[in-house]
Amino acid sequence: MITKRKKNVDPSPLPMRICLCGCKNEFQPNRSNHFNVNYKHTNFAYNHGTRKEKYAEEIEVTKRIRKNDRILEKYFKKSDKQIVKLNFTIIKADGFDEGIFTQIVGVIQDEIERKYNAVYKFCFRLIKQGEINFIEIREL
Ligand SMILES: [Zn+2]
Repeated sequence: MITKRKKNVDPSPLPMRICLCGCKNEFQPNRSNHFNVNYKHTNFAYNHGTRKEKYAEEIEVTKRIRKNDRILEKYFKKSDKQIVKLNFTIIKADGFDEGIFTQIVGVIQDEIERKYNAVYKFCFRLIKQGEINFIEIREL
């Protein structure tokens, strides 16, 4: 004997939803936290959705910070000075992005506190002298 499955007799079923994975399929949710047609669609949304985009964004930012730090390190190590001063256009041409740093640090120099933008192991500050922009690099 075959028993028929009970029909959904919920007097107020949840309204039909469009699957959030992007497939555009409409489905009847069974629970309020039911957002995809089935687990395959949930997995697809998980792997292709905002979570993945957010993660990719974080990786991208980390890469740009690392790149900046490597460029500072390269020029810092070329010199034997504690504070390396360069024409900013040189470092900019190497792909340095002055808008990318992790924090601002104060360094006392000749009894004056100067603000540096810290990356990982190195920090920098930009100085304009006349019409020329310079960058100062020091180790943290
Ligand atoms: Zn779907």
